[in-house]
Amino acid sequence: MRTTLFAGLAVLGLTACQTSQPVVVENPPCLAQCQTEQFQQLSQQLIDDLWRLSPTWALYSGVYDYADQMVIPDDAARERTLAFVAKWRKALAPFDDVPMTSNARTDKALLDNLLNSLEWDITRFKAWQWNPAQYNVAGPFARLMNEEYADLDTRLKAVLGRMANVNAFYSVARTNIQNPTLEHTQLAILQNKGGLAVFDETMLAKAKASGLSDGEKALFEQRYLQTRQAIISFISYLENLESELKANGARSFRIGETLYEEKFALDIQSGMTAKQLYEKALADRAQAQKQMLSITEQLWPKYLADQPMPNDGQKAVRTLIDHLSSRHVKREDFVAEVKAQIPELEAFVRQHDLITLDPNKPLVVRETPPYMRGFAGASISAPGPFDKDANTYYNVTPLDGMTDEQAESYLREYNHWILQILNIHEAIPGHYTQLVYSNESPSLVKSLFGNGAMVEGWAVYTERMMLEEGYGDFEMELWLMYWKWNLRVITNTIIDYEIQVMGADEATVMDHLVNGAFQQHEEAAQKWRRATLSQVQLTSYYAGFREIYDFREDYKKVKGDDFGIKAFHEQFLSYGSAPVKFIRALMLEEAQR
Ligand code: ZN
Ligand code: ZN
Repeated sequence: MRTTLFAGLAVLGLTACQTSQPVVVENPPCLAQCQTEQFQQLSQQLIDDLWRLSPTWALYSGVYDYADQMVIPDDAARERTLAFVAKWRKALAPFDDVPMTSNARTDKALLDNLLNSLEWDITRFKAWQWNPAQYNVAGPFARLMNEEYADLDTRLKAVLGRMANVNAFYSVARTNIQNPTLEHTQLAILQNKGGLAVFDETMLAKAKASGLSDGEKALFEQRYLQTRQAIISFISYLENLESELKANGARSFRIGETLYEEKFALDIQSGMTAKQLYEKALADRAQAQKQMLSITEQLWPKYLADQPMPNDGQKAVRTLIDHLSSRHVKREDFVAEVKAQIPELEAFVRQHDLITLDPNKPLVVRETPPYMRGFAGASISAPGPFDKDANTYYNVTPLDGMTDEQAESYLREYNHWILQILNIHEAIPGHYTQLVYSNESPSLVKSLFGNGAMVEGWAVYTERMMLEEGYGDFEMELWLMYWKWNLRVITNTIIDYEIQVMGADEATVMDHLVNGAFQQHEEAAQKWRRATLSQVQLTSYYAGFREIYDFREDYKKVKGDDFGIKAFHEQFLSYGSAPVKFIRALMLEEAQR
């Protein structure tokens, strides 16, 4: 599907070029538009080259041209990646000092960052040595079997081609793995066991019943059996490794300050250091907790007049939240309630002139299609940048599959107030609205390598912005729940930094989550585990939020009486999913002109 999108990009570039060529001048200077077109052609070539370098990355991006190939992760593969980086750095360098459109300038910055990340992973971070969970062949095979991008025979041939390298893949994996962490070794065991399930009997049965030739079918069966055996023996290798690490000690899963700051700079692309963000998070946490206590003092007599408010402030807040959480929709009304809230959010955004909502691109609320129901929740399915007229769906999963107890716990979590905040975040004016704007500045680079912190930060920013603008009529209950919700993203930033950089232990982290952020024990335990397996990712929501909010306040000062929130929002979103620091620089530059 993406391959046709590429053609679309080339056509767009050409059309723009022809219309903007100066006609009479001989040897016309290559101005911004012309440089931009040259740059776009080059970035297209870079992307095509990347797909050849990493057929798996291509496949996950919806490009199936190289689906039958699997790279063996050996030294030669790493050399090829470093050569790719060197080649494209050199090719992109001339565009540093020439005029280009804002859209192209931010694309250039994203591509630079992509190249830096590829190099850093190999030469600095070296997770290919210490993280055995990097070695699992199953994902792309599952995708080929399930994603109907082509007929089954074509997909089975891709599976057949890929399987040829499975043995070599796992044998190189064993050579690569050096001094791994216990946690990632255990994760690798779990995930490879899960991966084995992809190569179940139905896969073989499908191949046997397919249109493949007899020779191909025989080869398929042979490789299928080898693949299963390779995974099984890799699992037992990992299990031996696990016992060894348990007996003799293992590398720490904590990456330490230097690598953490480097990873933060590459993944978040923030204008701050991780340490600066951490310090902001501490201040924001204190502020949120103070607000929650103050609201609790005011609301206590309204709801809990029959009992004295505990002297322990955290206990009082928790008691009130528990009490209020019983106000929620009935499980059978969950989807209908979400549906009913969308027009209310739209009306509020219009009445308060917060941002223009395109009436031609309505959001369609639907029950999550069964094949997408991994877990309960809500998500946005958006059309790609060249498929702008397709519907955008807000998928809401009905609570059908849950026991009464599970449904009750879920509904208390997404109670009357939190559900409204969730809809702001996911839909209007959060992710859905951002997507509509993002598609107005089509950039393949941004849709493939766009900045996650900006995207999540925007959604988190809109929660606060809507309440500040009076959504919910400044109802104290809504603010209390908002602070609890916001405290979660703040606390994620704090614990990630404290664990990875400062060496915080499980008890300290559980205290932050349960007592400091009013989370349930089970949720907190899962968060601790996740924080031992990933680094930096947990900070992205808060990082984006904090930077957008701070930028807005700075921008207000620059614009003075000329500041308007609607214009600010619309211009902010007009750059696509670029890192906030670049949008900030471009908008301030323009404001000062
Ligand atoms: Zn209930
Ligand atoms: Zn989100």
